[in-house]
Order: sequence, then C-alpha cells, then structure tokens
Amino acid sequence: MNNHPPETPLGNILVVDDTPENLRLLSTMLTHRGYAPRCVINGQMALRACNSNPPDLILLDIMMPEMNGYEVCQHLKSEAKTREIPVIFISAKDEVFDKVNAFAVGAVDYISKPFQFEEVLARIESHLTLRNLQKQLKEQNVLLQEEISSRLEVENNLHEKNQSLQQEISHRHAVEKALQEQNVLLQKEIANRQRAESALLKSNQELARSNAELEQFAYVASHDLQAPLGTIASYAQLLEKRYKDQLDDQASKFIGNIVHGCTRMQTLIDDLLEYSRVGRSQKPFELTDCDRALQQAIANLQGAIRDTQAVVSYSELPTVMGDFSQLVQLFQNLVSNAIKYRHDVPPVVRITASKQDENWLFSVSDNGIGIALKHQERIFQIFQRLHTQREYSGTGIGLAICQKIVQRHGGCIWVESEPGQGSNFHFTIA
Ligand code: ADP
Repeated sequence: MNNHPPETPLGNILVVDDTPENLRLLSTMLTHRGYAPRCVINGQMALRACNSNPPDLILLDIMMPEMNGYEVCQHLKSEAKTREIPVIFISAKDEVFDKVNAFAVGAVDYISKPFQFEEVLARIESHLTLRNLQKQLKEQNVLLQEEISSRLEVENNLHEKNQSLQQEISHRHAVEKALQEQNVLLQKEIANRQRAESALLKSNQELARSNAELEQFAYVASHDLQAPLGTIASYAQLLEKRYKDQLDDQASKFIGNIVHGCTRMQTLIDDLLEYSRVGRSQKPFELTDCDRALQQAIANLQGAIRDTQAVVSYSELPTVMGDFSQLVQLFQNLVSNAIKYRHDVPPVVRITASKQDENWLFSVSDNGIGIALKHQERIFQIFQRLHTQREYSGTGIGLAICQKIVQRHGGCIWVESEPGQGSNFHFTIA
C-alpha cells in the first residue's frame, strides 16, 4: 500500500456529515489515499461548496438537521451545474426503503454505517472511473457529432457540386449537339460553295476562252476588212476623179457618202484592232514613269488642246510597274474624252494621283457635260455611246479599251459625275 499521497490528487471529494468524527476519519483516510477531500457539516454548506467549485464525487450523509441528504441530493440533481456529480450516500439507515429512496433521488451508490474504509474506497474508485468514462464518452460523442456534421457539410457540398457538374455536363452536351448540327450545316455550306466555286472557275475559264476567241475574231475580221475597205474607198475616189464631168450632183453626193462611210468604217476598224491588241499583248511590265506617259499623251493631243484652248494640268505622278504604251493610251483616251465632251467653255482638265493602301489612285477630272448616274456603268462596255455621231463623233470603244488596260494592270476604273457638273474618272493601279 502506498502511504504517500500523489502530487496530483486522484479526485476532489466533498464529504458531507454532521458528525465531526466521521468527517475527520474520512478526510484523513482519503487524504492518505491520494484524494483531495473537502469537508462540510450540513446541507447548505454542501450546496454552496458544489456551486463554487464542483467536486468529482460527493460522500453524503442522510441524517442531518435542517436539510437531510435526500434533499441535498435532489437540489444537486435539479441544477445543470451539479447534476452530473456522482453522489454516494453513507448512512446508518439500513432499510431497503432508504436505499431505494436514495437511488430515486439520483444517488449512484449507498454505503451503510458502520462502513469498511476499503469498501468506501473501492466504491469511490469505481464511481470515479465510471464518471471519467462517462466524461470521455461525452467528449467523444461531441467530437463524433462534430465529425458527423462536418462530413454532412462536405457531403452536401459534394452533392451541390455534383448537381452543378451535372448541369454543366448537360449544358455542354447541348452545346456539343448544337455545334455538331452547325458543323453539318457548315459542311453542307462548304460543299455548296465548293460546287459553286468550281462552277465559277469553269465559267471563268469559258469566259476567258470566249474572250480570247472574240479578240482573235475581232482582230482577224477587222484586219481582213481593211483591204477590201481600202479598195472600195480608192475606187470611189477614182470614180469621182475620172468621171467628175459626167456625174450629176446627186451621183457626186452618193460617191461622197461612200467615201465618208469608208472613213468611218476605217476608224471603227482601227479602234477595234486597238481593243483586241490590248488583250493580246504579251509585253512584260516594267518600271514606268506615269509623268512621262501622260506627257506623251498630251503631246499626241496637242492639236485638240490648241483648237479648244483646253487647260490641262497635273500633279506629280508615280512610277509604277506597267506597259508604257498602254498607259499612254489610257491617259490619252481619258484626256481626249475630257476635251471632246466639253461644254461651251474651254475645257479644264486635271490629272492627279494619290497612294491608297497598296494601290495608286489616279483621277482625271473635267468641267464638261457630265454623265447621268444611270449611264455611269455601261459607258465602259464596248460600243456604248450616249450621243449621236452628229452630236459627238466616236466609236464607243475608247473607255472599253481604258477598262481593259486598267484590268491588265490589276486595277479597276469608274466615274463620278453629274450632268452639267463635269466628270471625274478614277482608276487604280497596283
Ligand atoms: P466614244 O468617245 O468614242 O463615244 P468612249 O468609250 O470613249 O467612246 O465613251 C463612251 C461614252 O461615254 C461616250 O459616248 C460619252 O457619252 C461618254 N463619255 C466618255 N467620257 C466622257 C466625259 N469626259 N464626259 C462626258 N461623257 C463622257
């Protein structure tokens, strides 16, 4: 048996008894066995001691004046703070009724006086162990509850995440389906476009072939027409010269008409030949000074400029990759039209160029009669004229030649104009 009390008491025990000897005895023995006993001599003191510092166990006498052990126990069990403290009754009352009553008010045990101290100790020990186990169980229960609620929370979170994942998946499925449908449509569209493209390519090739054929035809026809036309003209002139005296006025007029018709036809043939030559030209492009090309064109038009007192001015023009003689012809056709389709005042013609992205934009403006909007596209087609020969002579080929030259140089040509307000012809060259 260990006679020295341990440094940390085994338990804090409240001993309640109105007999001082009992108190002393129990206190000494408990201290001796390592417990920290507190002793009080009545019920009121016991309740106060429990409230200020709840003990681990109470040894409670039943028979006490003023407040007996049952009442003390009942009080303790009615308060949350003291309800869990195990109470062992120690009493001289040894009736079964007393014991039953003790358990009924909440005691955990009952020891009859006179008691055996070893028995008291054994019961104290076992109830303290029980109490500790209960405490541990309670704590573990709390931990378990916490664990359960945290797991529930995690589970809830997981559930929510799962739901949003399911929603996301079904949304993605819907998007995927829509994409697949669009893909099918796109594939169809691509196939359609490919079909249309190859049809376009075919018709382009066909167009190029028939254009080349037409140019060849125009060239051959106009070339071969020249000789018989020359024969008709010279014989008509010969007729007039040789038989001048024998012909009356009407016959001379008829011959004059033939000669005039031949001259006009010659002009048409010349222009047609020129038109077919543009498309047939194989001359490679070289660095071409547009200033020089324009000056050449102006020189070629000196007669018309002088006759009409036209003022032709231009800003500095660039050097481009092109065909010099075709560029001369392009400027010449545009400037000559600007002079030809004049008002009753001397023509003022201005030629400018400006850089636009990769291209050069050229403009030839005049103060002439102008062109109505509805004619502005068709005048670039061959043989399209807006006037009679009597009003303005011409073949309707000049602008078609211009368009061909511009297209051969990778550009396009158009006009901005209003009747009576002059015209502004624009073309681009890459
Ligand atoms: P042509 O001058 O031989 O008739 P073009 O092909 O050069 O043929 O011109 C086609 C038509 O465009 C002309 O008949 C004329 O009506 C119109 N046109 C061309 N240039 C001008 C201009 N600068 N001002 C007004 N009309 C023009």
